[in-house]
Amino acid sequence: MTFEELGLSQKVLQAVQASGYTTPTPIQAQAIPPALQGRDILGIAQTGTGKTAAFTLPMLSRLESGRARARVPRTLILEPTRELAAQVEESFAKYGKNHRLNVALLIGGVSFGDQETKIMRGADVLIATPGRLLDFFDRGKLLLTGIEILVIDEADRMLDMGFIPDIERVCKLVPFTRQTLFFSATMPPEITRLTEAFLHNPIRCEVSRAATTAVTIRQILVASRGHADKRETLRNLIRSAENFKNAIIFCNRKRDVAILHRSLVKHGFSAGALHGDMDQLARMASLDAFKNGDVSLIVCSDVAARGLDIPDVSHVFNFDVPTHSEDYVHRIGRTGRAGRSGVALTIVTEDDMKYVDQIQSLIGKAIDWEGPGFDALPPPMETSRPQERRGERPDRGQRRDRGRRPSGEREPPIRRPAASEREAPIRRPAAAEREAPVSIGRPRGGRPRPEEESFRSPACAAPTERRERRPRHHEDDGPPVVGLGDHVPSFLLRPVALKPAKVGEE
Ligand code: AMP
Repeated sequence: MTFEELGLSQKVLQAVQASGYTTPTPIQAQAIPPALQGRDILGIAQTGTGKTAAFTLPMLSRLESGRARARVPRTLILEPTRELAAQVEESFAKYGKNHRLNVALLIGGVSFGDQETKIMRGADVLIATPGRLLDFFDRGKLLLTGIEILVIDEADRMLDMGFIPDIERVCKLVPFTRQTLFFSATMPPEITRLTEAFLHNPIRCEVSRAATTAVTIRQILVASRGHADKRETLRNLIRSAENFKNAIIFCNRKRDVAILHRSLVKHGFSAGALHGDMDQLARMASLDAFKNGDVSLIVCSDVAARGLDIPDVSHVFNFDVPTHSEDYVHRIGRTGRAGRSGVALTIVTEDDMKYVDQIQSLIGKAIDWEGPGFDALPPPMETSRPQERRGERPDRGQRRDRGRRPSGEREPPIRRPAASEREAPIRRPAAAEREAPVSIGRPRGGRPRPEEESFRSPACAAPTERRERRPRHHEDDGPPVVGLGDHVPSFLLRPVALKPAKVGEE
């Protein structure tokens, strides 16, 4: 099938040709013709399948007739994160370069003023995250009565982030007669219920079984003794990675993103970071540095990295095994995109095994192990003292690591000049650092603090917290030491001469 056969307008076809695309991807071939006819679409597609163009191209064709009015946008695209929203805006700039359409972006972390100006000018396309959109709506700055096409992208991630009530509200605020294009990588029951309530006789386009992983991705599990050893394991994996170009490294919690990022930079790696505590400018700068190749590694949380289109990522490292198996599918989908090959390495501790089992049953296959198994691992490299686990003294870890590195070992392949390290995109590590001294797994206020806590269900937080609080004795550590053990310092054995108490003294 060719793009010409899909029924797209000439202007759109010219832009597609200029992008260098010759053949529609399966989701595009399935979704574009019915979308052009105004039908509702239920698209079940993984990231990297070309789904952004699957809704952008027919929207552009349909928007060629008609004009936007002030404060009344014509189409609305809901995205779970600011980065995804910005990415979709880029797609409109690319595919809509032959159109004169006003595209407005409503995302948090950016001043209201500029956004309001664009809305006032009349937006043909409004791309928004749910929170900021409803904020605008509630302030009376926006009407949703003119929406002709509603796109809900990454719906399962919206679910994870707690946005479903917002989505339901938006669906009730837009006209009943609008067209809805709905995309999700997986179809949990809550999402199915949503589609039954708000889609009208949709055309179902499914490009692969929900939660399958691309065959172009080589998946590998690597055993690590415990949390404290994982940073060392990761460094070794990065150094020994074959055909390494760049990598995304995932942590389960944003606090760990900041810690790992600092550790990597201290060890001479060229790394950036992306997590929910960073302001919008820092997030964008970080992402741009990675996309431009100024840094070769980017440490991310799931929420911050969801759906990012970063072409040509050679490796994905799961520093933590995701506790939601769907997250595994999304994470490793960052590599092996558009038919390219990629490698996804997951660092596993014994405590993580139940999550590995869940992932393997979700993707329907066993993942290969590489390197020594848990039994054959060398003794712990780093102490598991709490302050070090929290990264308060990474310089000690660095010194120890340098001492142990065999002289013949090659240098990190991605060593960068100091300038790029100075520009390390985390501009606000202070927030993460402030959190560090809180006792593990139970920060101030007594509540668990998983990644993007406020968006996550308690079911997600619980296992992480349980794992963190478990005693860190390995079987080969021997029995727990009580008090000072066999060793009693000599000053405690010295006889103490007591002075007789004076009268009146207690
Ligand atoms: P998406 O799933 O929308 O994030 O797209 C994944 C990547 O595939 C993006 O980098 C697109 O530029 C690219 N892409 C989209 N459609 C096509 C196509 N028909 N042929 C080749 N690449 C495409």
